[in-house]
Amino acid sequence: HAKSAGRSAFRVFAPEMAEEAQRRTEMEIDLRGAAQAGQLWLAFQPKVDLDRDTITGCEALLRWDHPKHGPISPVDFIPIAEDSGLILPIGEWALETACRQGRAWLDAGLPPVSIAVNISAAQLFQRDPVAWVAGTLERTGFPADLLELELTESQLAQDVETAIDVFRQLRGLGIRLAIDDFGTGYSSLEYLRRFDVTSLKIDRSFVDGMLAEPGDAAIVRAAIALAHSFGLSAIAEGVETEAHRRCLRELRCDQIQGYLVSRPVPADEFATLLLRR
Ligand code: C2E
Ligand code: MG
Ligand code: MG
Ligand code: MG
Repeated sequence: HAKSAGRSAFRVFAPEMAEEAQRRTEMEIDLRGAAQAGQLWLAFQPKVDLDRDTITGCEALLRWDHPKHGPISPVDFIPIAEDSGLILPIGEWALETACRQGRAWLDAGLPPVSIAVNISAAQLFQRDPVAWVAGTLERTGFPADLLELELTESQLAQDVETAIDVFRQLRGLGIRLAIDDFGTGYSSLEYLRRFDVTSLKIDRSFVDGMLAEPGDAAIVRAAIALAHSFGLSAIAEGVETEAHRRCLRELRCDQIQGYLVSRPVPADEFATLLLRR
């Protein structure tokens, strides 16, 4: 293809590329000191049980308030953290902070809720991921059965055999494990057979399309059935409307997460939500 070859040839010399590289380098430098400078914080988004209509857990999501550029999305800074190795200290900070928060909520007498933390491949394949998680639980006093780790299929795919082994050990600690963005990666069926996970999170792109696109609806329905036939809990992310909720309830989905219930909010706002419902 002469056209696409011409385009990629142009791209090699495009000044935007140099700018992009520069931007990434600057972001990496800023990110290096962000946790210590108190610029990182965790937002919490409720997960609701569809049968009982109660908040049973939340997902902790990293937020970065940059002093010059304002809030930066994890979609932009997590890849940079992953490429630079910064994901290890930042991920440690996130797990530790989530567990401390969870312990504080329990100590304040709030109803116990599970907390899900996202984990990148580099964290799963670090020297002793199980000792790291066990140590964090011990230090913070957060109960193992309330902690859930979320990993995407593509992260697991980087080293399937090791991941299966680490999952088995993590499950031995008593924590829960979820496959995130389910349906967007590969080898889903094989993974479900071999990985000791407790829930599937159906990617929000399918939820988004399921009322208009029969193909998306079929994927959502199949994913829920698949989860149940493996004895797993099915959770739908990106639930924005009452129509989504009704449809997911009819499909016997176990839990929902999305703007319909709440956006990800600061810890004190999450506690208020928890007490109100
Ligand atoms: P994710 O784990 O799939 O998280 C769900 C994303 O969907 C979040 O984006 C959340 O704010 C967004 N979301 C929730 N409900 C709705 C909805 O109803 N509609 C729409 N359109 N979006 C919704 P967020 O917070 O920007 O995070 C993006 C991704 O960044 C996460 O995707 C996760 O992969 C990654 N991430 C966030 N925090 C961490 C972390 O502590 N560690 C690692 N490794 N990755 C993280
Ligand atoms: Mg997640
Ligand atoms: Mg997800
Ligand atoms: Mg997602």
